[in-house]
Formats: sequence, C-alpha cells, structure tokens
Amino acid sequence: MKKYMLPLFMLAIFETVAVTLWLTQNNPFYFFNFSYIGISVSLGVFLYIRNYKHARRVAQLLVGLYMLVYLGMICGENMQIEGFWYYLFTGVFEAATIHYAVAKIFGPLIFGRGWCGYACWTAMVLDFLPYKAPEAPRKKIGWIRYVTFAGSLVFVAALFLTHVGNLEKIMFYAFLIGNVIYYAVGIALAFAFRDNRAFCKYICPVTVFLKPMSYFSLLRIQCDQNKCVSCGKCKKVCPMDVDVTDNSRKRKNGTECILCFECVKNCPKNAL
Ligand code: SF4
Ligand code: SF4
Ligand code: SF4
Repeated sequence: MKKYMLPLFMLAIFETVAVTLWLTQNNPFYFFNFSYIGISVSLGVFLYIRNYKHARRVAQLLVGLYMLVYLGMICGENMQIEGFWYYLFTGVFEAATIHYAVAKIFGPLIFGRGWCGYACWTAMVLDFLPYKAPEAPRKKIGWIRYVTFAGSLVFVAALFLTHVGNLEKIMFYAFLIGNVIYYAVGIALAFAFRDNRAFCKYICPVTVFLKPMSYFSLLRIQCDQNKCVSCGKCKKVCPMDVDVTDNSRKRKNGTECILCFECVKNCPKNAL
C-alpha cells in the first residue's frame, strides 16, 4: 500500500482543489473538471508503479485530449497563454485563469513541471516523434521563450486597447490558430534539432511561469549518492538534459524536469 501513496497524495491534492473551487465559485463544473484531471494523472502514476510501459502516455492523452478537444474546441475556452491574459484583463477568475493558477503558477510549487510530463496537449503530440532523448547538444536559444511570452501579452493587450468587438470569437480562433502554429513549429524543431522537446526548451512561453516556480518544487527526483556508480545512463535518457545526479536545486536544467521517470526506470542501481 505504501508504494501507492504518491498517486493517492496527488488525487487528494486535485480533489481539494476541485471541492474548494466548486464551493467557493458555486459551480459544480470545477468539481468534475479537477476530479477528472486528478483521476487521469493519478491513474498514470498508478500504472507507472504497476510497471505499465505507457503509463505516462495514458495520463497525457486523457488530460491533453480533454483540454484540447472538450474545453478548447467544444466549450470554446482559450486555454493557451493568450486565454490567461484575456481572462486576467477582463477580471474574470475562471477557465484559463484557474487553469494557469493551478497547473502552471502555484501547482509547480508542489508537483514541479508535472503538467509538462502528464497533461500538456502540445507535448502529447511531440512525445510521439522519434527523438525521445535529444541527439544533439542543447542550443543557447532559450531566450526565444521571452519573446513569445511578450508577444502573447502584446497581442491580447492590443485587442483590448483597440476596443475590437467580438473578443470571445477572436480568442476562440486565436486558440485554434495558436495550436496549429505550436504543433507545426514543435514538429519542425523536433526534426531539425533531433529532439522531441525542442519546443519546450526554447519556444514555449509558459515556461516563463513554470521554470521559476518549479525551482521550489516539493516533488523532485533525488539521487542516492551511495548507490550511484556514475554510469551516466540517467542523463542519456533524459528528454530535458537534467543533471539529475546533482541533488542541489541549482542543478543543471533542474527547472526543466518533467517528472517523466525515464531516469528512474533506466538507473541500473536504483539510485534515483
Ligand atoms: S514546456 Fe510548454 S509545450 Fe512543453 S510540455 Fe510544458 S507547457 Fe507544454
Ligand atoms: S543511472 Fe543511476 S547509477 Fe547511473 S549515473 Fe544515473 S543515478 Fe548514477
Ligand atoms: S528523465 Fe528524470 S530528470 Fe529527466 S525529465 Fe525525466 S524525471 Fe526529470
């Protein structure tokens, strides 16, 4: 039973959020929404513990498709960063604002970049590509994320400042077009850099929130230095180039860890 504590702990966190938002916002949608996401993510972790090979992908597809197809395309919520700015400017604490607060701003203090490993609908597609571990050294172009971050803010601010009508509709189309661009750029970069997660490393504007918050993450992979034989396998399989044998918070690419557990699975000494 002890080994199932992590999925139970995660489910408890999501249920706490689900019930709190349901009662404070007087809207049962939040209960169903966060319960569904919590159950999907916990199921992925549970299956991982049961040694199911595609455990993480199960969670990623369950949550990613729900957010992209149901919330985004059917319900018309812009769940991308532009949607976050939009709801923030309108002063409405719902949809993308809550999604960002839970998954990408305050949640990472507890579960780091679990969002990136188990829920993101962009990575859900990118992770099907052939370069699961990068085949080339990391490029020094991470600054691009600040440009895309600023671009998303300027785009939404301009819509408000110019008093354009039909903003809801514009935001819906921005969501559709934005996703097509993300997928096209993500896939092209993955092949160009031989690295499925190149988009996450250099372009994704959400990492401007995710990286600093996940620095303080409660959940993180630790290395037992007494067991480690410095074979380097963990770093070879890591999709995010994390120096996982270094236990300090300042470890190289430490804020990039997506908690995929590839390093843990491949460590021959069970040191992680
Ligand atoms: S870095 Fe961005 S695109 Fe990549 S998984 Fe995280 S949120 Fe998704
Ligand atoms: S795979 Fe395990 S033993 Fe090898 S370097 Fe990493 S932590 Fe150490
Ligand atoms: S392989 Fe390990 S260090 Fe790398 S992202 Fe996955 S969990 Fe984090």
